[in-house]
Amino acid sequence: MSFRHLPSVDAVIRAVCAEQPDAPRELIRDAARAVLAQARAAIAAGSPPPDLPALVAAVRAELAASFAPSLRPLINATGVIIQTNLGRAPLSAAARAAMQAVSEGYSNLEYDLAAGERGSRHVHLESLLVRLTGAEAALVVNNNAAAVYLALIGLAAGREVIVSRGQAVEIGGGFRIPDVLRASGATLVEVGTTNRTYARDYAAAINERTALILRVHASNFRLIGFVHEPELAELAAVAHEHGLPLLDDLGSGTLIDTRQFGLQAEPTVQASVAAGADLVTFSGDKLLGGPQAGIIVGRRDLVGQLRRHPLARALRVDKCTIAGLAATLHSYLRGAALREIPVWQLISTPVEALQRRAETITAALTAAGIPARAIACESAIGGGSLPGATQPSAGVAIAPVAGNATTLAARLRAGDPPVVARIVDEQVVCDLRSVFPMEDERLVTAIVAVYRS
Ligand SMILES: *Cc1c(COP(=O)(O)O)cnc(C)c1O
Repeated sequence: MSFRHLPSVDAVIRAVCAEQPDAPRELIRDAARAVLAQARAAIAAGSPPPDLPALVAAVRAELAASFAPSLRPLINATGVIIQTNLGRAPLSAAARAAMQAVSEGYSNLEYDLAAGERGSRHVHLESLLVRLTGAEAALVVNNNAAAVYLALIGLAAGREVIVSRGQAVEIGGGFRIPDVLRASGATLVEVGTTNRTYARDYAAAINERTALILRVHASNFRLIGFVHEPELAELAAVAHEHGLPLLDDLGSGTLIDTRQFGLQAEPTVQASVAAGADLVTFSGDKLLGGPQAGIIVGRRDLVGQLRRHPLARALRVDKCTIAGLAATLHSYLRGAALREIPVWQLISTPVEALQRRAETITAALTAAGIPARAIACESAIGGGSLPGATQPSAGVAIAPVAGNATTLAARLRAGDPPVVARIVDEQVVCDLRSVFPMEDERLVTAIVAVYRS
């Protein structure tokens, strides 16, 4: 046994402390112990004992790993533009600049500059949202799940909420409409059948305990065939005949008509407001393309009621979100959303532009001796918008040289920057629909690095 020749923990700690005097001693001690344990296991397995410089280098690497951020940027080569797992909407330059500007120092977050007294954080977004959606009032909270929860607690706690059986669904990430209703203290009254629900089903379920009618946009699945749901305007008519509000949870929602890109129609917020929904809820970081937020627009009295609810304080957004969301909304107001907001830049990129980039990337990879091929593919939009719909795209298919496509994909994810790609027919496919042109070079470098190592 050559454990005797192994430097002591103290010797390793002293050497590392001399090198990194600012690093916390406990971290160095834990890293040194872990490295020495590995060394002992390697010696027991027959390896020669490492010397002090080798152990110090190993501790240095351990420390670097514990100082590295856990949350970091990556290249999304899945083709899915809005993916919750990958951080949803990338932010526009204007949004990022606004968030930085407001976070560097102080701001008038809740301060009325004209009056020189306390103001409200809600004023910064409300007029923009009112102008863009046609609603009377608006309120922004932490995310859309919070928006729905606040609306239900504020308007329906202890009473009944009518939902179509086909809409009592799970949105994802554990957000189930029946559970949210229960948590808000409201009672779910399901009407109709899974595939067909009529306006008269809602009308028949209304009684003196009914608080509101809830419509939930089916954002992650599509029923096809023998199906029926009433139009929103029909539902609004039923609700209003009985003096009840209609709450429309759009999920993604959009301010821009998606049909101009050859996609199906994702419901617009403006259309829901115009059809008579009394409150409409949607996410800030899905098709809107802004920071994480939940947006509630609708009738002034109802929005006011929610704003005054004690829970509104617990779900409120911070100054960075307000600044980023306001800048994003300004792009819509100026008519510059397609040009300035990354989600729309990606959606509106013509497939020919993606094909040209796929060929350029393929040429660079082939020149480096990597078996790559430019291919045509289809990508989903994601983020609970346009379920089942895809858009023509282009990508690069890479064949694994050693091992299989799964190990190649894993090695791409382990790179710097990590690349998350798709596996199709035992090949790794980098779909360029969700890759920004300025990332192409880094994508090539990352793939080449994996093949060289
Ligand atoms: C995404 C979604 C939600 C949840 O929104 P978050 O912003 O993720 O909290 C709620 N309802 C629907 C219909 C959705 O699609």
